[in-house]
Amino acid sequence: MADLRELYQEVILEHSKAPRNFRALPAANHKAEGYNPLCGDRFTVYVATEGDAIRDVSFEGAGCAISKASASMMTQVVKGKTRAEAEQLFERFHNLVTGQPAPGGDAPALGKLEVFSGVSEFPLRVKCATLAWHTLRAALEGKQEAVSTE
Ligand code: ZN
Repeated sequence: MADLRELYQEVILEHSKAPRNFRALPAANHKAEGYNPLCGDRFTVYVATEGDAIRDVSFEGAGCAISKASASMMTQVVKGKTRAEAEQLFERFHNLVTGQPAPGGDAPALGKLEVFSGVSEFPLRVKCATLAWHTLRAALEGKQEAVSTE
């Protein structure tokens, strides 16, 4: 397990240093701001949807390695998914980082998001890992105010 944990940390560090889709999205028709006051993580998430599909997604902002890596991987994973699939992924990811069993049924596989499984041992980090997802949900729901994890 020690090797796996090291590999997971490497993946998280790599994404935090070179986050994917780290830019504004001029074509976005949804946008929301998210803030985690416990850590100071603050992101804007941009989403371009077409019907029910998430065509493109990006983010900007600043935060700790976990929040940034999570935002980076979130953008990669939800791109091309439907809103419902993105919501299911969030539910499954939330269970992973809070140490709850995965939901049954046909919930989509987390794939590379599994690297955040270690977060469940650090309850204060759960909000870092889920901030981008909460912000994505707020953007899709068209919320105008900034979301806070508090
Ligand atoms: Zn953080």
